[in-house]
Amino acid sequence: MIINTPAQHNIKLSRRLTKGCYDFIDDDGLISLLNETKVDDAEKVRGIIAKSLAKEALTVEETAVLLRVENTELCEEIFDAARKLKSDVYGNRIVIFAPLYIGNYCENNCAYCGFRSGNPDAIRRTLSESEIINQVQALEDEGHKRLILVFGEHRTYSPEFIANTVRTVYATNKDHGEIRRVNINAAPLEIEDFREVHASGIGTYQIFQETYHHETYRRVHPAHTRKGDYLYRLDGLSRAFEAGCDDVGIGALFGLYNWRFEVLGLVSHALYLQERYGVGPHTISFPRLRPASGIDIDSKYIVSDYNFKRLIAILRLSVPYTGMILTAREKESIRREVMSFGVSQIDAGSRIEIGGYTEIGDTQQVIQREQFQLGDMRSLDDVICQLLEENQIPSFCTACYRVGRTGEHFMEYAIPGFIERFCTPNAILTLQEYLVDYGSEKAIELGKKVISANLNKINEKIKPQLLERLAKLDETEDRDFYF
Ligand code: SAM
Ligand code: SF4
Repeated sequence: MIINTPAQHNIKLSRRLTKGCYDFIDDDGLISLLNETKVDDAEKVRGIIAKSLAKEALTVEETAVLLRVENTELCEEIFDAARKLKSDVYGNRIVIFAPLYIGNYCENNCAYCGFRSGNPDAIRRTLSESEIINQVQALEDEGHKRLILVFGEHRTYSPEFIANTVRTVYATNKDHGEIRRVNINAAPLEIEDFREVHASGIGTYQIFQETYHHETYRRVHPAHTRKGDYLYRLDGLSRAFEAGCDDVGIGALFGLYNWRFEVLGLVSHALYLQERYGVGPHTISFPRLRPASGIDIDSKYIVSDYNFKRLIAILRLSVPYTGMILTAREKESIRREVMSFGVSQIDAGSRIEIGGYTEIGDTQQVIQREQFQLGDMRSLDDVICQLLEENQIPSFCTACYRVGRTGEHFMEYAIPGFIERFCTPNAILTLQEYLVDYGSEKAIELGKKVISANLNKINEKIKPQLLERLAKLDETEDRDFYF
């Protein structure tokens, strides 16, 4: 039996950095790049766009040139290029997942977060093992196959606790429901602790730096808290790599400091990991600051919708092979609009109150129980219908990670035909599985059309096998097919 009881662990006082770790974010250097780069140098901008369309990662300096574009027509060229690159590298698939908040006890006091220790209004709670099982079954009943588990930073959320929670999630099945990939968003760990969590079979381990700007970091993360140590956090994913996790996600919380600076921070981080470990991050997240219980957001750095679009498109061009995650923090209208600029993963049907998948009504939010307020509260099926209407293939595929195509193998996206051979057929299979087991009438009708339109594009060598598997999904109880 899996025991999933949070135990009291002593806070580790040791804070070991990786050998050779250094602070690669030079605030003054990045700021002067932004100030000194010539604005709207059309020839240079077009040359950089061409490099990116040839699927080469951009340098920090090249990214700064794109960030300095103000001319609307040049901005449109950036948007068009991002759309093209997205479709060339990722096809018309969007991978779907849901967050599962496990516990909101937190010893940190991040100024922007509803879970911060200094928020007396927060209702604190950690899901018990049986509550986790209930949440997971509710998510499976909706059709989810991929989860990200989210934790506050607290001594009770030890590596052992996190690993046991992952095992509980994988072991929970209902009818045809099963979770096939569990990602983690939690505090940075020590190397041996990452090893313990990795051994439970996690997918991506995400740690967001929040802000790459040192002074802002100090302002929003009190020095006496664990999160107050900038370099320890910056080195977090390097420790993950050294523990064998070659699948990591970086992110910045947009709205704390200048958005252009944060883009340069993210690109610097991606290049650093690529250089040091031969593999860049698997995903980049770019959450925008949302209202939350007991927080007072300074509006100075709030990112407008237009600039949000720009930052997504520029990130897409800068790191062509990195997945980009857009969450339900954003409103439906924005989600629809920016998806095509480069987003490859979204969450759907999300609830971020602890226990929110079973305990709270469909649309009611309880701010004291949330980390922040969501912008898109649609159900999974509604989001799937919208994607199908736009001729995108919602995908629950987990194949790469399960057959070991992670880390440097993600560069296989660069191999011509990889998407046609693996990604599109797997997206079609997982969509069909969703439709057969969980789809509404509307989703089934729309899904049939999208599947048949995309089958026409499938390589003739694979097609017979794909058709056979699709028929099995329809006619038998067999599930979980992939290439
Ligand atoms: N506690 C861990 C940590 O801080 O890394 C992991 C989970 S934390 C709950 C997940 C992320 O939510 C944070 O890294 C932060 O970027 C984001 N977040 C916090 N407050 C937010 C807010 N008010 N609006 C939007 N995102 C927020
Ligand atoms: Fe805690 Fe994470 Fe929220 Fe900071 S962002 S208060 S560490 S849950």
